[in-house]
Amino acid sequence: MARKRDTIVLFPSASSDSANQRSVIEKTAEQQLHISNPQNIDISSGDASFLWNQVCTIIKDNVSSQVYKTWFELIKPLSWSDLLLTVEVPSQFFVEWLEEHYNDLLRKSLNHVAGENSQLQYEVVVRKGDSSLEDRTIRLPAFKNTPASATQPALPFSGNTHAVVSDSHEFLSSLNQRYVFENFIRGESNQLAASAAYAVAENPGKTRFNPLFIYGGTGLGKTHIAQAIGNHLLQKNPSAKVLYTNSERFTIEYVQAIQNNKVNEFTNFYRSIDVLIIDDIQFLGGKEKTQDHFFHTFNALHQAGKQLVLTSDKPPKDLLDLDARLISRFQWGLTADIQAPDFEMRMAIIQKKSQDEGFEIPSDVAEYIARNITGNVRELEGTLIKLMAKISLDSREIGLDLAKEVVRGIAGISKQQLSIHEIALEVASYYQVPVELLSGKTRKHEIVIARQMSMYLAKSLIGTSLKGIGLHFGGRDHTTVLHSCQTIDNYLCHDVKVRAALDVLKKSLTHR
Ligand code: ADP
Ligand code: MG
Repeated sequence: MARKRDTIVLFPSASSDSANQRSVIEKTAEQQLHISNPQNIDISSGDASFLWNQVCTIIKDNVSSQVYKTWFELIKPLSWSDLLLTVEVPSQFFVEWLEEHYNDLLRKSLNHVAGENSQLQYEVVVRKGDSSLEDRTIRLPAFKNTPASATQPALPFSGNTHAVVSDSHEFLSSLNQRYVFENFIRGESNQLAASAAYAVAENPGKTRFNPLFIYGGTGLGKTHIAQAIGNHLLQKNPSAKVLYTNSERFTIEYVQAIQNNKVNEFTNFYRSIDVLIIDDIQFLGGKEKTQDHFFHTFNALHQAGKQLVLTSDKPPKDLLDLDARLISRFQWGLTADIQAPDFEMRMAIIQKKSQDEGFEIPSDVAEYIARNITGNVRELEGTLIKLMAKISLDSREIGLDLAKEVVRGIAGISKQQLSIHEIALEVASYYQVPVELLSGKTRKHEIVIARQMSMYLAKSLIGTSLKGIGLHFGGRDHTTVLHSCQTIDNYLCHDVKVRAALDVLKKSLTHR
């Protein structure tokens, strides 16, 4: 079958955009690569499949089996020459997802197997079931242009105010160009947020929607819409100083500015921005000094008629660990929520996204998915990708049977998505200790073991980053968490009680 080939350059790695995504990113960025069976491989004798198998062995050690099945099993090695490994993937979205979440892991694994200078290239082959239509092939370089450590976008404030602000708005903006109004599907559940966002993008700082505060559950499009404002603005006015960031990056930068005696520069940098978009503002909770600094930044920008856009998982009044004066300012403009999409909108999303990827989904299949995947848009996207991958890579017929199989898999995965809090509750009940003590300072033996066990399970069952675990359990340092996990590992070698506890807990947590 004839294939059209094309080469395009992938824009710089996308931004982290939700608590969930962030935890995956942190996981791959912070974690040392775990290699259970290091071996010397003679890559000169290997072909693409051999090499890819070696890379996969490492990847398997570093992600859960569901993640491996969903993303890595579907990749097919094509060729290996001149230190360039080319692999086939089923859609452009697939590439973006890999780049956003597993870029660092892929790079490290390939470099480990094939040497520091090895590169990965994706070949997107969208196969049309209908032979009258051409397959579509696009080549995309993986981590080629990405700095070694960049799974997270660079921090916008580098300490050198002038260089950053005046030279390159693209660097400054940190926007992902995939998130635009044109591909944001509107429905009753997001109508107000989408209209207000568009109004703000047309007239930043000049509407009554300042700040524009968008809130809603995970995967419902908050990051998409917030970034669409920035992208729209920059398209109309490329010299506008638009910055997209999130409250965690803002906090890290502020702390670094204090450490490096650059608070004045930091302050000036943020006050020079025309449109400041801060995603996931809820993570400012409990960070009093940063909140205080942000309060003054907010006031300065607002007074100067600059636009502020904030997103959060809850409405302002429910942000309990945020300073009351900040909460009141968040309510000065417009607060708009995004709800879960209704059935009609889920149908529209399925149809639009599949068409964009070059697939025709029969209406009974679309309806089946829309009736069964009801949580959020991210899950719908995941289902579609899996479906498209099965059609193009496994040459499966598109039909209800396949849709049922995919939906079953996706539903299985979300069922298994435990939270760190659920783990702590289960462990506390097993050891019969109050769960809140796990986050406290008590050094009593049964509390310490329950705390260590919870940390160990959070790491091994859901892959939370050491930093994330530390934060959950009373703001402990990541080295303390590492030590706790190692302690449990040691116990497992010689302590039957701990072994038995782990067995029981693992069973109850994974067979819920
Ligand atoms: P949130 O920030 O609320 O967790 P995101 O903005 O990251 O959610 O959205 C999750 C995914 O779903 C993204 O890939 C986004 O493009 C997509 N998405 C969400 N809502 C819509 C929509 N209304 N139309 C098109 N895509 C959407
Ligand atoms: Mg988000």
